[in-house]
Amino acid sequence: MKVIPGDKVIYTFKHDMDYVDKVSVGERFKVVTNDCWFQQIKSENQAIEQIDFNVVNPATGPIYVEGAEPGDVLKVKIIDIAVADYGSAAVIPNEGLLGDKVTKPVVKIIRVEEDYAIFNGMKLSIDPMIGVIGVAPALEDGEWPTGSPWHHGGNMDTTDIKIGSTLYFPVNQRGALLALGDCHARMGDGEVCVTGLEIGAEVTLEVDVIKHKSITWPIVETDEYVMIIASGDSLEKASYEATSQAVEYLKSGLKMSWEDAYMLASLVVDLKISQLVDPKVTVRAAIPKYVLPINKLMEAL
Ligand code: CA
Ligand code: CA
Repeated sequence: MKVIPGDKVIYTFKHDMDYVDKVSVGERFKVVTNDCWFQQIKSENQAIEQIDFNVVNPATGPIYVEGAEPGDVLKVKIIDIAVADYGSAAVIPNEGLLGDKVTKPVVKIIRVEEDYAIFNGMKLSIDPMIGVIGVAPALEDGEWPTGSPWHHGGNMDTTDIKIGSTLYFPVNQRGALLALGDCHARMGDGEVCVTGLEIGAEVTLEVDVIKHKSITWPIVETDEYVMIIASGDSLEKASYEATSQAVEYLKSGLKMSWEDAYMLASLVVDLKISQLVDPKVTVRAAIPKYVLPINKLMEAL
């Protein structure tokens, strides 16, 4: 299996980027990802102020996907996320939802033993996820630091971006130019304190290209849901974007009026908070697959 090493990283998603390797449709490949600190946190005695924040949130890649052209959709299946044997979490003054209450920085090293994270003696089952994953943004969208989420993906910090899920991204550049990092061994919706269980990982992926289809925001498909992942300056704005797109997909996929689709959304779509601690907040609108399967959604695009 091809391995993309963890020392090939970017800090900005740009329209034009030099790729580090190429993969083909249907090929399984492994991506070595760094934790969000680029492994700078190794002990609980470490002062968070000493960290070089210029190298935070590295994303491994970009990876060129053969056959992906602007105007296509890139499909990324997450086969596996194998996490390291320890990770970390931290609270930092003025960071996170309750940042105003944080009086001092605290770092915690958290060991992972088999499928459990050990937190103050408690065993918490791990549920690994990818925090940062995205493609080259559209030229008109500009450049995005890897710490931000937007139309191209990026720092979406969405718990459903996990083993077994499939992501869909708009392709804005030849080869799509996929990059990823910032895995979490587990995280709660919202990521309230600004970190998940930050950890290095080896991510196994498989890619496909859906020709001549265009989407506005990334989509994640799980066993039960098709979720539109939208970001914005506030929960209201992100929720508006995610809902607006969900209603459009219900309308076109089920061939109903916009008004009926809006009502149906109110009956079946769940809005879930992905994260509210990054420069933009992220919300996902979850459409049950028994209402709108992904193939119906795609066919109608
Ligand atoms: Ca993140
Ligand atoms: Ca993180």
